[in-house]
Amino acid sequence: MLLYRDPLFHLHRQAPGHPERPERLEAIDRMLADAPLACELRPGECRDATFDEIARVHSREYIRMVAASGGVPHTQFDGDTSANGHSYAAACRAAGSAIAAVDAVLEGPDRRAFVLSRPPGHHAEATHAAGFCFFNTAAIAAEHALASGLSRVCILDWDVHHGNGSMHSFYDRNDVLYASVHEYPHYPGTGRLGDIGRGSGEGYTVTAPLPAGCGDAEYLHVMTQLIYPIARAFAPELVLVSAGYDGHRRDPLASMRLSSQVYGLFTTLDCMFADTCTDGRLVYLLEGGYDTDALAEGVRESMTVLCGGRAAEVPDTSPHAEVVSLTDRLLEQYQPYWPAAEAFSLT
Ligand SMILES: [Zn+2]
Repeated sequence: MLLYRDPLFHLHRQAPGHPERPERLEAIDRMLADAPLACELRPGECRDATFDEIARVHSREYIRMVAASGGVPHTQFDGDTSANGHSYAAACRAAGSAIAAVDAVLEGPDRRAFVLSRPPGHHAEATHAAGFCFFNTAAIAAEHALASGLSRVCILDWDVHHGNGSMHSFYDRNDVLYASVHEYPHYPGTGRLGDIGRGSGEGYTVTAPLPAGCGDAEYLHVMTQLIYPIARAFAPELVLVSAGYDGHRRDPLASMRLSSQVYGLFTTLDCMFADTCTDGRLVYLLEGGYDTDALAEGVRESMTVLCGGRAAEVPDTSPHAEVVSLTDRLLEQYQPYWPAAEAFSLT
């Protein structure tokens, strides 16, 4: 597995006390140093995204506005998103490293990559920063893959928040399938039942808005019954994962109840999906996760599986009835677009 890390990702810092902080990456680094994984983590070569690569997703005016924050101690973009003098450079390198990871897995021999970058990206819109995000790393990576000749790219997003920016980037298109499972109602307020895409993109936005309090069983139910079946029917040539670890039960910014271990199962499912559709080509992009220890634990579970190891077991419990009926409703909603979608099994 290729691992993308860069000192710049540590230099971006928001206002004091902000939950999206360099300590998140430090916790992951410590975890990897204290107990190395039993596999080779090959360092990927980070690079900066060019202005034109970012401009496939963001307006030129907005990119210039973020660029103007470079070297300035503090620039406020929205209520909870601010830049220091390094934020612009870090955001360019996060997007560029995602592009480099896409190129690397398309070229081989490595088929899996994890980009451990900050700032995160999935809330960033075409013309404005939002939710700790400046440039939409996943959307920029998807556009790069399409510009490189691919026809279909899937973005899976299991961060606890809905990726409004990623959804809007491709809402009326059928070359990128954006599938998200998230807490709803919650920040940012998008990803409602009925958000399915429009025009030729109708059916290509897959939205699973789960109520607060969901745990491993509820997530696994909606993912295996709805998300992966549709994503597999789409038959992408590359899978990008917006990997956010803030659905964890200890996360301070959300109200879900996921265990650390279930992230290994999510990654097992992501790998199975990629193996069946994309010859295993899979790029993980770090999004949220604000309890630093829980984040490191979740990332470790994912990396163990990305390296070919087995996921830890999680107790086999039944999903809550409310989520079972929500999933049935969603299946009905998407059935006209994806009649061939079949349930996905971990066994
Ligand atoms: Zn999040």
